[in-house]
Amino acid sequence: MTQTTGSLFSHLRCVECGKIHEENQLQTVCRNENCKSILSAQYDFVRNTLTKEELKNRPATLWRYKEFLPVSDEKNIVSLGEGFTPILPLHHLNEHTRGIRVLLKDESNEPTGSFKARGLSVAVSKAKELGVKTFVIPTAGNAGGALAAYVARAGLKAHVFMPKLTPSAFKTEARLFGANVTEIDGNISDCGKLANALAAENGWLDVSTLKEPFRLEGKKTMGYEIAEQLSWTLPDVILYPTGGGTGIIGIWKAFDELEKLGWTGSKRPRMVAVQSESCNGIYTAFHQNEERSAYKDNGFTVANGLRVPKPYADKVILQVLRDSNGDSVSVRDEDLLIALREIAAHEGILVAPEGAALWHAYKVLSRTGRIEDGETALLLNTGSGYKYLDNITG
Ligand SMILES: *Cc1c(COP(=O)(O)O)cnc(C)c1O
Ligand SMILES: [Zn+2]
Repeated sequence: MTQTTGSLFSHLRCVECGKIHEENQLQTVCRNENCKSILSAQYDFVRNTLTKEELKNRPATLWRYKEFLPVSDEKNIVSLGEGFTPILPLHHLNEHTRGIRVLLKDESNEPTGSFKARGLSVAVSKAKELGVKTFVIPTAGNAGGALAAYVARAGLKAHVFMPKLTPSAFKTEARLFGANVTEIDGNISDCGKLANALAAENGWLDVSTLKEPFRLEGKKTMGYEIAEQLSWTLPDVILYPTGGGTGIIGIWKAFDELEKLGWTGSKRPRMVAVQSESCNGIYTAFHQNEERSAYKDNGFTVANGLRVPKPYADKVILQVLRDSNGDSVSVRDEDLLIALREIAAHEGILVAPEGAALWHAYKVLSRTGRIEDGETALLLNTGSGYKYLDNITG
């Protein structure tokens, strides 16, 4: 018995050359050899009958937006309760915030402790629907844990490639979930090369950031939630810790879709890509007005999710920053560690170092007048700090 989700998913479209790709087959990146850009899931929004009011009775997970997600049969949904995370005001840090309202959307209680749960819940569900049995992923840590958990839940198989320098909790959790974990003497790009080769050789699905289209769909639900939780009024600024950039691209896609649905107006937030000094190619390209980022790896950062030397979708990330009249800030480890301690001590939240970087970036932006009095700024804390404690002292 199939029970349909009511998904309005219609096809995939290359964001660069516009080539259409079929929705009911396994797809990776654009098949046009000269393009190979990322694929974006498209929906028949004109056929939508769901209302904002009906949403209120839905379960508090990202699957409340199932009409706008790619899975068509309910039985293929692999869920651990991901999504619908709280938006918390940062009351006690307000000596820095003056007339600005600062909110933190807190992903630290997601399954496996990060927002990677969103993307992998949706990607594993859709892959299961299309008959995939084995997955492979290069990861800085959180994506590997999330893939391993969802694959365990689905009864499938995962191979995880992680830099040797990753804190031990990331390796242990993935192994406990039954994944085959390989430690690599290198960064995430080195892991990616191996994952890619093995995927081709063995017919595994490579779920690297933006090399398949559905992790993006999971991440876009953050944009839907921000709109719904703020009563369909978007904040003025969103700060996002940018590694591969799925979140920033996904949230922007959500705002497009919400406007098509007529659920929000045309006023959009300015999107701010916050990076680590370790890998700040997007920051550099944005401020130098370049179309693409260069490969850049300055070595270790405690914010391992931000050590991405060259995002696959660099061009798309930079386009979102420009279209949104956005900004970019690069943060040193010593500053993000101060920020992490401030949020913990004053707000009771042990944020991931990647999320902590946003608080430092916020201070830079407000001090230099790039966020103004009367505005609302939303910081997207992407994960929990607990898995990073090898590298953080109390
Ligand atoms: C992966 C990760 C990021 C970077 O996310 P992208 O979508 O790849 O830009 C940020 N924070 C944490 C905690 C992560 O795990
Ligand atoms: Zn293309």
